[in-house]
Amino acid sequence: MSADAPGRGDGVNTERPEPLRDLDWPPERARAFTGKVADLYGDLLERLPEMPVGRDWRRAEVREALARPVPEDPMPEDELIEYLRELAFRWSGYLGHPRFYAYISGAGTVPGAAADLLAAGINMNVGGWHLSPSASEVERHLTEWFASVFGLPEGAGGLLTSGGAMATFVGLKVARDRRAGWDVRTRGVAAGPPLAVYLSTETHVVSDRAIDMLGLGLDALRRIPVDDGYRMRVDLLREAIRRDVADGRRPVAVVATAGTVATGAIDPLPEIADVCAEEGVWLHVDGAYGGPAVLADDLRPLFAGIERADSIAFDPHKWLYTPLSGGCLLVRDLAHLRESFDAEASYVHQDRERTDRGQDLGRLGPQFSRSFWALKVWVSLLAHGRRAYAARISHDAALARYLGARVEEREDFELATPVNLSICCFRYVPPDLGGGPEREPYLSMLNERLMTELQLDGRVYCSNAVLGDRFVLRVCIVNFRTEAEDLDALLDVAAEIGARLDAELRPASLGEGVA
Ligand SMILES: *Cc1c(COP(=O)(O)O)cnc(C)c1O
Repeated sequence: MSADAPGRGDGVNTERPEPLRDLDWPPERARAFTGKVADLYGDLLERLPEMPVGRDWRRAEVREALARPVPEDPMPEDELIEYLRELAFRWSGYLGHPRFYAYISGAGTVPGAAADLLAAGINMNVGGWHLSPSASEVERHLTEWFASVFGLPEGAGGLLTSGGAMATFVGLKVARDRRAGWDVRTRGVAAGPPLAVYLSTETHVVSDRAIDMLGLGLDALRRIPVDDGYRMRVDLLREAIRRDVADGRRPVAVVATAGTVATGAIDPLPEIADVCAEEGVWLHVDGAYGGPAVLADDLRPLFAGIERADSIAFDPHKWLYTPLSGGCLLVRDLAHLRESFDAEASYVHQDRERTDRGQDLGRLGPQFSRSFWALKVWVSLLAHGRRAYAARISHDAALARYLGARVEEREDFELATPVNLSICCFRYVPPDLGGGPEREPYLSMLNERLMTELQLDGRVYCSNAVLGDRFVLRVCIVNFRTEAEDLDALLDVAAEIGARLDAELRPASLGEGVA
């Protein structure tokens, strides 16, 4: 070191620092604190069914309650626990409430929540195998098991992702790299003919975004119309691919959905797989919602053909009920992931003498550092067993069919589309409503208002779908706390609020109304 190097004789303090342990709580204190947090969780589970499922939150009041200045000194522990209690009980969304059946929201397994605490406590980095031997091998084992459940061949595997959006991105990245026909990783998308990706008008918007993020541009998107069951029209898919080929475009992937977000429709997988095989196009199946239903014997046949996919995205945090967040991407050949994502970094030394170590998962996907997402999924499977999952997934679908039947029985509701998987779409229709051109627009407006009022009411919580021009209410059951009585309550509350809104809003041209 030269004489003028920093730290030498220029007034910089080089004394031996005393230990500074403020950030490291002794094990006894750690145990006590996490115990108190676990008690909060227990209290929440106890009170959840009696709590309102939704409230009319105002940003100002939430901020006022929670947005404190960062303290200079430690907040007293009791005060901190009280703060967390208030956050948990007063100012949160309760997706695990028995009467929450909106969007596609898993309830959050109890063993999964506990596993997340342990995963954070061990604090492994799944990016490197030597930093996470247990996590890496559990994730490998879990993803191989999932691949086998979907019927993918030996050599298939994948990785956990933050959710379905990232799983779709990873799947389409591999599709682009393998099917473009040139080395896109090196030369970029502009080095060849324009690429095209095919999906249906019902495909989740995360595929659009993936195509944008992959540099293909939204113009690469081919939105294939659906049949009256909201399934992709395979004849139109084939036509679109042939037209693009004739025009000098290169079709790289079809995104087929197994369980669409609006109605739970499953695209015709065997026919789409045939088209993909004939045309040399990658088949990505978006099973973010529906995928886990392959575990249920009665639903499995609906997914025939999924085993022919080149990649499958699905979300443990939806129909495997594990706590947010965690998605999964599977590929038919695990080597393809590495070919699409691998990057050498000199600061992560690879000891090539050690052949008894495993794959660094950080080289298989877009993330470098990553936590042990697989643990909450794996521990949930261990704690509950496969059979309980299969039974509950079937039960969710049975509940959706039950709701559909109750809707059809009633005079004041109308089923909007047949029940698929665990989704039921329906709308409130005042029994004495008149006909004419104003009827449909009025019903959409009424149901839109109804959905908003239901979400604010606090007794039940559903969301909506837009089917053609119709705005409809939508229930999706991926919640192991929901039972038939919770669905009965939904119809009762919706009828009550619907009648009140109808009395306020109905135009004279559609009749008198009941109120
Ligand atoms: C939920 C969903 C997605 C998006 O997944 P996230 O986990 O929310 O990122 C994509 N596709 C379908 C069909 C979905 O249901």
